[in-house]
Amino acid sequence: MTSRTRPGAPRTQNRPRVLVVEDERDIADLIKHTLERGGDIDVEIAYSGDAALKAAAERPPEVILLDLNLPAVSGLEVCRLLRSRPATRHVPIIMLTARSTESDRVVGLDAGADDYVTKPFSTRELAARVRAVLRRRRDEPEAPAVYRGQHLMADFDAVNITVDGESIRLTRREFELLRYLVDNRNRVLSRDRLLERVWGYERFIETRSVDVHVGRLRSKLKAAGRQIETVVGLGYRFVE
Ligand code: CA
Repeated sequence: MTSRTRPGAPRTQNRPRVLVVEDERDIADLIKHTLERGGDIDVEIAYSGDAALKAAAERPPEVILLDLNLPAVSGLEVCRLLRSRPATRHVPIIMLTARSTESDRVVGLDAGADDYVTKPFSTRELAARVRAVLRRRRDEPEAPAVYRGQHLMADFDAVNITVDGESIRLTRREFELLRYLVDNRNRVLSRDRLLERVWGYERFIETRSVDVHVGRLRSKLKAAGRQIETVVGLGYRFVE
């Protein structure tokens, strides 16, 4: 098991590690160069899905950048396998994809990827995405992992959400959204803040996506959905 760095922990000798899974050497080298330029990230490259699975099992990284288009074991399969294994279940995965159709993106996200970047990508955008994921992990509050309300019981470590005793299935994004709202209960959170903290970047998607996700989350939470208030002109607030 890897130890996760928490707020206040020294990072000087413990730079976050990013595993880049890409069979095209030029692209892999470009990504490595881009991410290591700042001097605060270490990049390891795996040139195949098999090598990636082995490397991630031996020493789980903080983030995995995974190319969809790999020979032999596909990126999607690698993603599913990483998600099925306890050591890598929670490692954020950013999928690199040459395809840009909506269905390809959905397939990637359904396989357990947290985010995707479409090739050809700008190195600046790629670096911004990776840094946002690392920042989000670092800033994760050490809040109690279980919330119990009148209707809602949310065990965030066990990924178990129930409303009035009935188990609720959430997508990964809905789960993260709920966790962030609950961790910051009774505070108004702007759409921009939610985008930055739950999605991890500010400019690449529309703030309206937040409304869509909040709407879906609310309806899934049934009676507890009322705890997510819309604060007109400002954003959302999870109330006790
Ligand atoms: Ca490739």
